[in-house]
Amino acid sequence: MSDTTADTIETRPFEAEVAQVLHLVTHSLYSNKDVVLRELISNASDACDKLRFEALADESLYAGQADLRIDIRFDAEARTLSVIDTGIGMSREELIENLGTIARSGTRKFLEAMAESQRADAALIGQFGVGFYSAFVIADKVSVTTRRAGSDDAWRWESDGASAYTLEAADGEVPRGTQITLHLKGGEDEFLAAWKLRSLVQRYSDHIGFPIRMAKLGDDGKPGDEMETVNQAAALWTRAKSEITDEEYQAFYKHISHDFNDALSWSHNRVEGNQNFTSLLFVPAKAPFDMAFGRDERQGLKLYVKRVFIMDAAEQMLPNYLRFVRGVVDSDDLPLNVSREILQSNRQVERIKGALVKRTLDILDRVAGDEDGSKYLGFWGEFGNVLKEGIVEDASNRERIAKLLRFPTTQSANADELHSLDDVIGRMKLGQEGIYYLTADGWNAARNSPQLEALKARGVEVVLMHERVDEWMIGYLSEYAGKPLKNIAKGDLKLDELPEDESSKQAREEAAEQVKGAVEKLKTALGDRVADVKLSTRLTDSASCLVLGEHDMALHMQRLLKAAGHDAPAGKPTLEVNPRHALVKRFDAETDPGRASDLALLLLEQAQLAEGAQLDDPAGFLKRVNSLIG
Ligand code: ADP
Ligand code: MG
Repeated sequence: MSDTTADTIETRPFEAEVAQVLHLVTHSLYSNKDVVLRELISNASDACDKLRFEALADESLYAGQADLRIDIRFDAEARTLSVIDTGIGMSREELIENLGTIARSGTRKFLEAMAESQRADAALIGQFGVGFYSAFVIADKVSVTTRRAGSDDAWRWESDGASAYTLEAADGEVPRGTQITLHLKGGEDEFLAAWKLRSLVQRYSDHIGFPIRMAKLGDDGKPGDEMETVNQAAALWTRAKSEITDEEYQAFYKHISHDFNDALSWSHNRVEGNQNFTSLLFVPAKAPFDMAFGRDERQGLKLYVKRVFIMDAAEQMLPNYLRFVRGVVDSDDLPLNVSREILQSNRQVERIKGALVKRTLDILDRVAGDEDGSKYLGFWGEFGNVLKEGIVEDASNRERIAKLLRFPTTQSANADELHSLDDVIGRMKLGQEGIYYLTADGWNAARNSPQLEALKARGVEVVLMHERVDEWMIGYLSEYAGKPLKNIAKGDLKLDELPEDESSKQAREEAAEQVKGAVEKLKTALGDRVADVKLSTRLTDSASCLVLGEHDMALHMQRLLKAAGHDAPAGKPTLEVNPRHALVKRFDAETDPGRASDLALLLLEQAQLAEGAQLDDPAGFLKRVNSLIG
């Protein structure tokens, strides 16, 4: 081997997507630069957690140095800022994998989200598991010197954040852990000011469970050689609630979630008894970017056992429909060597999980009960459709979740004016069978649905469920607060019990009597296009509507499934016609068989259109409409 340095320094290209992230970071992220330090401290703290975890099985990894800590140093002359931890460190392979070559799952998502949001904000970066790269927001060169616990080989990684990085063996006595040194860009001098760094570190890291140290300031106000711990260095959730300020809770939330918004609310509890554990759960105010990206790889809940971080266990310890929750669980009873497999099928875990669900629903109840109702509506706007999944997934808490649901109704001026089912029950009319609702594909289809007419005329409120998940969800909610939920587009509507003024009732019955014969004629004309034809009690203005059997799948869902290539169970609808409508009367009076058949088709097609369907024969429909006008 030759001894020139050129031979020992290897230059490697960044994986393409990593290079894209770096390009974005160096060229367009200017706001929230403070986040950089937070991300680096967060990584250092993770590294200390990892060593403590691995050392559970192999204490020799400490090699006599069990104190885990993080030092922040800066050098105003050299314009460098360093974060130095005594954590797990990285091997050569890990350096390559974590900081360069292999695009991790977050990289692509980050790029997609950034392209979508057009909001270049450094604060977003940590959410995607690419927080390390935020260093290049304030640095034009970053060097990482690291030695993995249990190994004698140390490595140095260095890059200017362009297309490549270098890798070389680091010589000399390299302490265990990782030193990350940022060579600051011009203009980033604030990161070289002792007071500024201190205030940042304190704000972001007070709650971190490891000591964070900075140089003690001398009498001249300049940092000396001696180091002092600047944070509390006690894991936040282990402290007494009464001693923790809201600001501290919020800072901790930001640390574990990488969110830059405040949390909406939280719940901090210690459970003692058969099982002892502490939980600190947060409900975010804003959905993270990756909420939309599938349900796999769920993060957000950190499992600790006796203060030792074990793993991210959101998937094992929180149901899917609470995937927005962020927090920490610290158990005194689970074994330190607990594995994912054990978590999946452990009675203790089941019990903790049940308690976490209750706590979360408690938080939501509390926020929903706030005088400031807008706070809950804000939550609902972000996570309502996720929470709805709980109606399906969690039978044991169905009633509690149903209480938290919000929908627009026929009393809403717009789709954002939401009501709870309790509100709707409070306004039920005497003789009403239950809570009436309608599902539709979109707000306009719902609010203009002909099915609503008779109920509107009687002043009965109908819940308008216009989101895609609604039809699926409502299949699992047949009752709430002792009241059945009744889809007004399915089965018979028992309107007889509802008050109706005498004259309109009479008019309706007379009209029905007059067109009695129309039903049979329509059945013949429409054949097997419909399951049946009936005179409607639902309609007052429209000519016709489609009604399904009590257990049929909604028509817009049938279409959705078909479009996605699935076999949809085709529940054929019944056509209901309005005896008072001119078109129905005209059909009844029509003697020409060709024209009668056109009118019959028109009645069906109108009902299909109102419901949001596409017509089989749109051109034929137009011809029929035009000939009617002519
Ligand atoms: P994340 O922390 O979400 O995984 P980052 O981009 O912040 O994403 O870090 C990438 C990876 O680099 C980490 O998962 C870790 O494996 C490694 N890493 C970063 N900083 C350190 C450190 N100080 N010590 C050990 N490993 C580190
Ligand atoms: Mg990180």
